[in-house]
Amino acid sequence: MQFGLALWQYVLLALAGVNALYVGLGGLVHWFYYVKNKHKAKRWKIQSDKFLSKKLDREAMLLGTLNMNIASAGFGVIAWGVFEHGWSRLYYDFDAYSWDYTLLSMFLCWLFIETFAFYLHAGGHIGWFYKHIHSVHHRYSAPTFWTISAMHPLEWVLHSSYIVLPAFIIPMHLGVYAMMVSLVFILGYWDHCGIKFVRIPLHGSNKFHDDHHKYFHVNFGFTCSLFDRIHDTVRRDGHHYNELSFNGGKGKVRKPEELGERAVGPLMEY
Ligand SMILES: [Zn+2]
Ligand SMILES: [Zn+2]
Repeated sequence: MQFGLALWQYVLLALAGVNALYVGLGGLVHWFYYVKNKHKAKRWKIQSDKFLSKKLDREAMLLGTLNMNIASAGFGVIAWGVFEHGWSRLYYDFDAYSWDYTLLSMFLCWLFIETFAFYLHAGGHIGWFYKHIHSVHHRYSAPTFWTISAMHPLEWVLHSSYIVLPAFIIPMHLGVYAMMVSLVFILGYWDHCGIKFVRIPLHGSNKFHDDHHKYFHVNFGFTCSLFDRIHDTVRRDGHHYNELSFNGGKGKVRKPEELGERAVGPLMEY
């Protein structure tokens, strides 16, 4: 599939698209809730008593926008290679593979993204990496949608690359891949906006990742809580967590002798 466009045109289109979505549409929703309806926060906000300071809010907006633009310029270059020069393993004819394979490729693409998202994220919570890199994303303990990409640029490039890689590894229809990338963007928005939205089947509530920003070293998963359940890193009720409690789902139990058998609290439901 060739559109006959030049490299700079792909980059320009990618930059225009991402800014229209992230700054334009995202900014509009953000303004509606965080400015116009700020006084009604109890009704719509997950952490209704906590807002980022003006300084942190502006920092997240600038850093998030900078990172989004870096990634979309890179995506523009990759899209140019994919469409004009046949890079990648994407295909355009549905009949090239069976429907069973189409579903399988969708599942494999999801598994690839979720596996990298979980382990790179959980790895970012190990001492040195946390202190020097991932803690930037955790400056925002009451996240807003600007914080999707407000992180250390190195970490952002790493996260962007495992979204791109499946297109080069797994033979996949362009439509399937476009759907997965859209899903990643929508879930990123959903999880960081700090606004009570509906619970998404399999994904759960966006309180899951909001709690990650609030309690730090728990709830590392992205599209679902599967790997957190395997590694026992889902937040537990009654446990006390802070930025220095590097022990996943265990947290610190205050006065465990008083709780006895209940010292390991039940997993939170999201
Ligand atoms: Zn984190
Ligand atoms: Zn986050």
